[in-house]
Amino acid sequence: MIYLDNAATTAVFKEVLDSLEDYYKSYFANPSSIHKHGQKVRHVIERSRYDISQILKVNEEEVFFTSCATESNNTIIFGLADLYPEKNHIVVSPIEHKSVLNPLKKLSSKGYKIDFIKVDKDGVIDIDHLKSLISEKTLIVIVMHGNNETGVVQDIRSIGKLCKEKDVLFFSDIVQSFLKEDIDTDYVDFLSVSGHKINAPKGIGLMFKRKDLPLSPLIYGGGQEKGLRSGTENPQLILALADSAKIWKEKRGEFVSKLKSLRDYFEDRLRQEIEDISIVSGRTKRLPHISNIIFPKLDAQSLVMGLDSYDVCVSSGSACSSGTPAPSHVLSALGYSEKEALSSVRFSFGVDIDYNQIEQVIEMIKNIYRELSFFF
Ligand code: PLP
Repeated sequence: MIYLDNAATTAVFKEVLDSLEDYYKSYFANPSSIHKHGQKVRHVIERSRYDISQILKVNEEEVFFTSCATESNNTIIFGLADLYPEKNHIVVSPIEHKSVLNPLKKLSSKGYKIDFIKVDKDGVIDIDHLKSLISEKTLIVIVMHGNNETGVVQDIRSIGKLCKEKDVLFFSDIVQSFLKEDIDTDYVDFLSVSGHKINAPKGIGLMFKRKDLPLSPLIYGGGQEKGLRSGTENPQLILALADSAKIWKEKRGEFVSKLKSLRDYFEDRLRQEIEDISIVSGRTKRLPHISNIIFPKLDAQSLVMGLDSYDVCVSSGSACSSGTPAPSHVLSALGYSEKEALSSVRFSFGVDIDYNQIEQVIEMIKNIYRELSFFF
């Protein structure tokens, strides 16, 4: 298998996997129990929280564990809406993940006004437009840091600064950029992170909430995570998340430069071999691991399936419901036509890939292209 779908999920680091069995044996007690075994588990959870807070350069009391970034995003959006019902306006980029857009759709069905910020052809948001949208009714501004489909990176410092000037809250989903880009937390109020994008297992995420900012919980119960996320903590996954984050932090320079070189090599080779391709968000700052290519003479699903027959994993941005592929909302927001959006394939690299594998994939794409472009 050649796995080029790391923006969808990553393989768990071997070191992390190896530790898990011991974590299940050593830390099975309930961290809310007051006996010493429970307190031992409480201690490792709090140590993990501290480790992650150091990586994020925030206060440890500002980190809350959840089951995934989808839960973090829902908690932040619905938690604020619950607290401030008089503020029924939200400003958001149109290229957010569905775990942000669908909660907003729900709020819109309840009468909220949702305004989308203009983006340019590369997906960079128009900050002047954002400024013009903010009003005294605005509950929150939501702009993700790195996009999961194209990799475009937004200037969250400038956006956050503007929000502070306008006295409005700012939330950024950093699921794809965490540990791959510097995260400037100076002006953000909320962040969301997912474990399985940084080589930890699925089922663990977190949110950052600036100290002293109130938020209603999504889940009520025993009051864990300072009442913000009830439900017995999952110590093994919390430890695994902290371990993966620490590995990434330690090797970040090496990892990021490898990802960038792999991506650049792939794109250069592809340009040499296949004419007319275009690289989405290719003229702006991008995450190191994502390359979104439009193959004008192909439909993306056929290329994805063709590569799958060679045991190569990639993704198309299009969502397939009831057998008909729908163009990605991200590419549509960037102004690509339906045909272009349905011809886009996302290659997302991991640190375990080598140049030889990239060459193999280029050869396969050439073969598939030769066969399929004829029919398109
Ligand atoms: N936000 C972004 C940008 C993502 O890429 C993803 C997952 O693809 C999510 C949120 C949701 O993460 P999770 O799978 O942890 O719910």
